[in-house]
Amino acid sequence: MSLQNVYYKRTAATAKACYICYKPSTTVLATVDTTDFLYTCPVHLTDPGFATRVKDHDNDDTKKLSASAEEIARVKQEWEEKQKRMREKQKQKQKEEKRKEDDKQKVPEESSTSDKKPEAPGAGQPTVSPRPTHERYVLHRHIFNLRLAEHRKRRQAAQAKTLAPRLPGIPSSTMS
Ligand SMILES: [Zn+2]
Repeated sequence: MSLQNVYYKRTAATAKACYICYKPSTTVLATVDTTDFLYTCPVHLTDPGFATRVKDHDNDDTKKLSASAEEIARVKQEWEEKQKRMREKQKQKQKEEKRKEDDKQKVPEESSTSDKKPEAPGAGQPTVSPRPTHERYVLHRHIFNLRLAEHRKRRQAAQAKTLAPRLPGIPSSTMS
């Protein structure tokens, strides 16, 4: 898995050295699955040379989503009303049919009055799962590259650690 340059601001229980200036801080930037995280002073978060705040569109989505729930209810009501009107029209037609039978000279009037309003979009909208409301940041490319390098190193170290004790004990892992 590769790191993504999307970090969420969190608050840790215990302060640790800031990644930039080594002052203790409880502010943490972490990837969504905390594959990578770094402690930082809140001050640095306003420094675009370190990280840039990503305007959270998720909140707008949530707003939109709840609005579309209303929308759906409204559309549903409209639809039901339309159905009712259609049924009434049907009755009206039947009455007219009868009248037509009474007066066959009359030209049948093709009803084109059914106002076809386009169905409101939104029903087919993909459901957006609620995201954490943490502030989102993108690290400066340079900083992120450092993180990537460090992450790779850490992963290799972890791999070496997990592989090393196992190697002599597992005969099946040898060449076949
Ligand atoms: Zn700092």
